[in-house]
Amino acid sequence: MSAAPTALVLAHTDDPTDKPRFLISDLCVYLESYLSPEQVQEVYRAYLFGAEAHEGQRRKSGEPYIYHPIAVARILADMRMDHKCLMAALLHDVIEDTPTAKEQLASVFDEEIAELVDGVSKLTQIDFKSRAEAQAASLRKMLLAMTRDIRVILIKLADRLHNMRTLGVMDPAKCRRVSRETLEIYAPIANRLGINSFRLELEELGFAHYWPWRHRILVQALRRARGARRELVATVETALRRRLVQEGIQGEVLGRQKHLYGIYRKMREKRLAFSDLADVFAFRVVVDRVDTCYRVLGLVHNLYKPVPGRFKDYIAIPKSNGYQSLHTVLFGPHGLPMELQIRTEAMHRVAESGIAAHWMYKLAGEGSNTQALAADWLQNLLEMQRGSGDSSEFLEHVKVDLFPDEVYVFTPRGRIMVLPKGASVVDFAYAIHSDVGSTCVAARIDRRLAPLRTVLRSGQTVEIINAPGAVPNPAWLNFVVTGKARASVRAYLKNLQRQEAEALGRRLLDAELGGHGAKLAELPQERIQRYLQSTGLAEMTDLFAEIGLGNRLPALVARRLLSDEGGEPSAEAVLPHRLSIKGTEGMVVNYARCCRPIPGDEIVGLFNPGKGVVVHRQECRNLGDFQAQRDRWLDVEWAEEGNADFTTEIRVEVGNRRGALATVAAAISEQGCNIENVQSRERDGMTSALEFLISVKGRAHLARVMRRLRQIPLVMRINRVSR
Ligand code: MN
Repeated sequence: MSAAPTALVLAHTDDPTDKPRFLISDLCVYLESYLSPEQVQEVYRAYLFGAEAHEGQRRKSGEPYIYHPIAVARILADMRMDHKCLMAALLHDVIEDTPTAKEQLASVFDEEIAELVDGVSKLTQIDFKSRAEAQAASLRKMLLAMTRDIRVILIKLADRLHNMRTLGVMDPAKCRRVSRETLEIYAPIANRLGINSFRLELEELGFAHYWPWRHRILVQALRRARGARRELVATVETALRRRLVQEGIQGEVLGRQKHLYGIYRKMREKRLAFSDLADVFAFRVVVDRVDTCYRVLGLVHNLYKPVPGRFKDYIAIPKSNGYQSLHTVLFGPHGLPMELQIRTEAMHRVAESGIAAHWMYKLAGEGSNTQALAADWLQNLLEMQRGSGDSSEFLEHVKVDLFPDEVYVFTPRGRIMVLPKGASVVDFAYAIHSDVGSTCVAARIDRRLAPLRTVLRSGQTVEIINAPGAVPNPAWLNFVVTGKARASVRAYLKNLQRQEAEALGRRLLDAELGGHGAKLAELPQERIQRYLQSTGLAEMTDLFAEIGLGNRLPALVARRLLSDEGGEPSAEAVLPHRLSIKGTEGMVVNYARCCRPIPGDEIVGLFNPGKGVVVHRQECRNLGDFQAQRDRWLDVEWAEEGNADFTTEIRVEVGNRRGALATVAAAISEQGCNIENVQSRERDGMTSALEFLISVKGRAHLARVMRRLRQIPLVMRINRVSR
């Protein structure tokens, strides 16, 4: 190890990519070890295309740009990635940094390559700088969520790894920013996918560049400690090896220094000084089979006393990224604690390469369906976890990270909003603020206008367009998915109903009092107060609302209010003024679904507790049920025919002929009617009854429709429906 901190840190100093010139010819030779000649040829073709596209571009270090993609491909070749992935790696910057378009890649190569390169470019385009407030955890999730092909992430990680290896030439500010991103975003993603080798190197490089000073001090401290403890490590290694041999166990023993960033993190989390950090050294035993692991555990616990409470069985209960090992901490010589990991070779491979272990050790050549392999990997994790008994939390993780139930979208200012899958623009607006939600009228998604019901996808930037005075629409309840949006719209409607109920209640009471020749404003205040007290209502508006909602009958209220004045109200009180209905009263005036009254019909109102007034046609046979409850009846009439639409139902009997329905429907629409619903029933083989739910302005309008229908020869009979 040299004295330079970076050199000491890097476990990969013997990596060929660090040599100044790793050429495409070197790569091709290397690839021949696991790809077919045709596949290597394809990789070379991708190189030629990339080299030409980047022609004339240089990296900050001064070397031709194409060396970077070659190095990235080399990192992936080490993981035995398939040839498509390597081709995409060689091309990974051409969309971003050259005029090459995705379509061109699709035609020169194929759709798969184009998708991969495009995916990497999309991740690159996420501007972390302006997303400063964004939560690192959400960004990580978002990156994974945006990626449909896991190879995109692997290429991006390899890209980042090579950039980190060559970060030294950047100016300090950029260096820090990139390092921070690496520590907060990319290293955890590598960890999530179980690619430990990537994670460790990304962390060490990120640490060295983000906190160069702390890093250097720690390196020095470690070097001193190593001097003092080197002997100790050797002693322990030898003792472990000897014991394995005695027991006839084949196994590899490795004493190693824990990596710097891990040590640093531990110091920071536990607020320890370096000298307090006892287990800086760790040992690993790799054996052939699972049961051997447990045997070795018994042996070492016999050799050195275990520290109580520090044993962890990640074989029985694997970590969520698939990691398996036995972990224990032992009291070593002089009572110094030492960490020990015991695992099989297969576990070791997964520990180092995670999801990539599949490419490295499984496929090589066989029709490589990478998505299937990724699914396979997850499946493996699932099964391991199932054995451990607690899969619910794990499933949660996998789902969120790789098959997300969530979408991650940006506000125009770069804030990340996490919403459930299926969330619409309205959900987004309410998530920002309830005022933004209740006045939203449209949105720009990635700068394009979009309607409110648009379902959002991860990575989109959403800008809400508000209009002052705009109000929530009850129809939103049909597509919002978040609790907040739903509750807010409901609360608004409830409030609206209350206001409408108050207005109606006031009119009803006024009319009723008017029938007795009295006026509300002229009643003595104290009597009103006494009445309110007796009812337990706080305010007059509450009383209006109660009346409007049909919970209290205006006739009774009026009588009570008047009776204090000289006993009985006058016996020959005229009927209260009729209430006139416009059709725009909203939610407290409802139209009965049995007889569906329309303006022009003779009507009657019925109080329906909690709902207000329900208007029926006078001839409706359901009114009979209420004969005995005259108090609930309300005299109503239509205001002048307005512009509102009313729904009513007609039954048209027609001869059973093909096209009959179409003919009738066309005639109805021709009269300016909306058909809301239609049902057809065959009556006797000769005739059918068509039942239309249509919207009309009133009786005159309906009469025109019926007249028109009678002109159709097929039509035998028409009548309004009353159920
Ligand atoms: Mn790159």
